Amino acid sequence: MTFTEREDRACEVTDALARWLLEEHLSLDDEADPGVQVDCPICGGPVRYDSPQQAELEIRGLKTRRGKIEYERAARRCGRCRKVFFPLDDRLKLGTEGYSPRLLEKIEYAGTNEGSFGQAGAALGVLGELPISAKHVQRITERLGEERRQQRDAQVSAMKAGTLKPMYPHPPQVAAIHLDAGKIQLREDDGQPGIRDPHWHDSKVGCFQTYSARSDDTDPQPRPPAVFLNPPRVMRLCQQMARVRSRSPTRALQSVEGSPTLLVEEEAAVDRPARLVRTAVATLEPTEPFGWMVSAEATRRGFYEASKKAVVGDGGNWIGPLVEMHFPGWVSATGGLDFLHLLVHLYAAATAAYRGHAKAARRLYERLVCRAWAGPPLAERN
Ligand SMILES: [Zn+2]
Repeated sequence: MTFTEREDRACEVTDALARWLLEEHLSLDDEADPGVQVDCPICGGPVRYDSPQQAELEIRGLKTRRGKIEYERAARRCGRCRKVFFPLDDRLKLGTEGYSPRLLEKIEYAGTNEGSFGQAGAALGVLGELPISAKHVQRITERLGEERRQQRDAQVSAMKAGTLKPMYPHPPQVAAIHLDAGKIQLREDDGQPGIRDPHWHDSKVGCFQTYSARSDDTDPQPRPPAVFLNPPRVMRLCQQMARVRSRSPTRALQSVEGSPTLLVEEEAAVDRPARLVRTAVATLEPTEPFGWMVSAEATRRGFYEASKKAVVGDGGNWIGPLVEMHFPGWVSATGGLDFLHLLVHLYAAATAAYRGHAKAARRLYERLVCRAWAGPPLAERN
């Protein structure tokens, strides 16, 4: 007997046990009476059953992480739209697609992260052990995406109406919003297969990050990381960033060979605040609606009430007005630079000031970087 045969058998047995446990557990739900009157999920009208016995039991199937299970459910028939629905399953958010919520998460993950719905289906089959067609992955991913879009738009509407409230009772102590713009590859969306009119479109992303508070106000890292003071590496970084900028948009998004090494170099341990919770909003819409999305998410996360708050961006000319409108008084309120972009400008300034005098240029650059890294004294911030 091969190892694979043994592994397959062991998994089959435990999967069957998991399915049996789930079916047993779901069968206990039969006792839960949805009540005399339930609203039809399709037309919204009331459906009245005077006694629980009036509800017919139907066998339902559901695909789970451990395979397909079957269970009985009390069905209600809506007289108006002539559809059957299952109040308890609606409450358990089992939907009509026949997948458990955990499987839907996997399908959505593959559908959004793989290069195509076809690849997503293949990955789900091999890695997720879930046979599913590309079409099905597409339908489910697009439905969930649309629901997320509606949620986001409802949040923005509530924000504009002044009714959006923070979702946690206590505001975060340290909160930062990172803003950036990028490019995304799109094609004509006319429902037909194949690629027509491929083009690049602006995308905007806001990342909302909370951090643990530090017990004192001293700077945990007053000197810039050594890598920023290493001339050959800084020169290489500047060249790479210039290359990215000069590239045609079709190549701009390709990874720049070598650049990540600059960021992962080992440093003496610094007492950094821990990152706590991260959420994000992203859109293809222009700056104005994006600003409202960012503001709404900041409201929902309680960022406006945070003791310390900052907006970080790359100095793009759209960021300043957005920050002025939605985040006046925050640190970097005029549109903060991220350090790598700043560093490239400082390097260019220092070499321009001392052309042909490498040593003097290097000293000036080091002074500028250290000053920029330290920033204004903490007491002057906020
Ligand atoms: Zn109905």
